[in-house]
Amino acid sequence: MFNIQRPDLIPMLMNGVFASGGGSTSPATLPAPKTLLQKQPASPFVIGVDLGGTQIRAAVIHESTLISRANRMTPASEGPDAVIAAISQTAHEALESAEISINDIKGIGVSTPGPLNPQTGVVFTAPNLEGWANVPLRDKLQAVFPDLPVYIGHDATLAGLGEWKYGAGKGSSNMIYMTISTGIGGGIIANKLLVDGAVGTAGEIGHMYVDMNPHAPVCGSGHRGCLEALASGTAIGRDASDRYAAGTARAIAQGYYELIGEHPTEEQRQPEPGETLALRARDVAEAAKRGDAEAIEILQAAGRVIGFGIVNLLHTLNPDRIVLGGGVAMGAGELLTQPINAVIEENAFQIAAKEVELTFASLGGDNGLIGAAAYVAYRQGLEYPNNTVL
Ligand SMILES: [Zn+2]
Repeated sequence: MFNIQRPDLIPMLMNGVFASGGGSTSPATLPAPKTLLQKQPASPFVIGVDLGGTQIRAAVIHESTLISRANRMTPASEGPDAVIAAISQTAHEALESAEISINDIKGIGVSTPGPLNPQTGVVFTAPNLEGWANVPLRDKLQAVFPDLPVYIGHDATLAGLGEWKYGAGKGSSNMIYMTISTGIGGGIIANKLLVDGAVGTAGEIGHMYVDMNPHAPVCGSGHRGCLEALASGTAIGRDASDRYAAGTARAIAQGYYELIGEHPTEEQRQPEPGETLALRARDVAEAAKRGDAEAIEILQAAGRVIGFGIVNLLHTLNPDRIVLGGGVAMGAGELLTQPINAVIEENAFQIAAKEVELTFASLGGDNGLIGAAAYVAYRQGLEYPNNTVL
């Protein structure tokens, strides 16, 4: 995958050299243009937009290749119209630096924090974006780009779509993407189709209930005992912080001290009674990699809870692949997958467990952008199943 601007690729892309199925085609053996038009997309280019709480990113994309990119800060506190204007500016910048006419773009896909309805294009609410309540994002963007089809999708779902099309999920027919970062989200592909649900909110696998204890922790959406409340990066950090306040987790705090540029001695690191420290999942993963037993214990506990969530998914959906992404999963690596696999082995139907492959996301930080772009082709493929020139 190219992460850099490659205007030099554009003439080749326009001629279909890199179009799907053309892997063995060299420029010298290209068929006549007329044949190309019948068999290849009229234009291979798509604009992908990744709308985040802090940053808006846009790129002109061909399959998983970024031709150009543009970024700007999200005016998150200024309301939906300011954010939509910023999306428009960022998309236009990406288009300009790709040196491609808007007439050669076949659509815009926007990865959006949800919940939202991808069919109506309405965003119900968006965490970290002020004033977002039932915003008709698709229609508002359609007014800005009247000649382009606009599609919006849930960010975790589209990251999963990107992994399915071009990353670790390639070739799978029943895939679940689980992103573990500050929260836990996901995307479900069943029988080669994205699962939207009645109003588009399917795939919220982080909010499965896994602990019925009345004293279980609560997630940001108010669920007591959901997977996110127990095993997200926030939960892992909270576990470490609680232990620190109780007088342990000293080795985990080392990462925090390094972050703020201090190197206290063991004595100085002893907290006053009641002193707290906001430790992060990253501090826990780093301490675990240094061999700290308490950090390993915290990650194993989180991994076991995630394992039970995955067993529920195995029993419900019988996936052939589960792709783990997000900063916490990628950072903890096998420290998380070992307990997950142990729980699957102990608790899942063997026939379902035997068929599933647990793997890590492979598209890196651009999976949201690539997924947003892949969503345009996915939706157009559903809308025009017999049209080979889309
Ligand atoms: Zn929840």
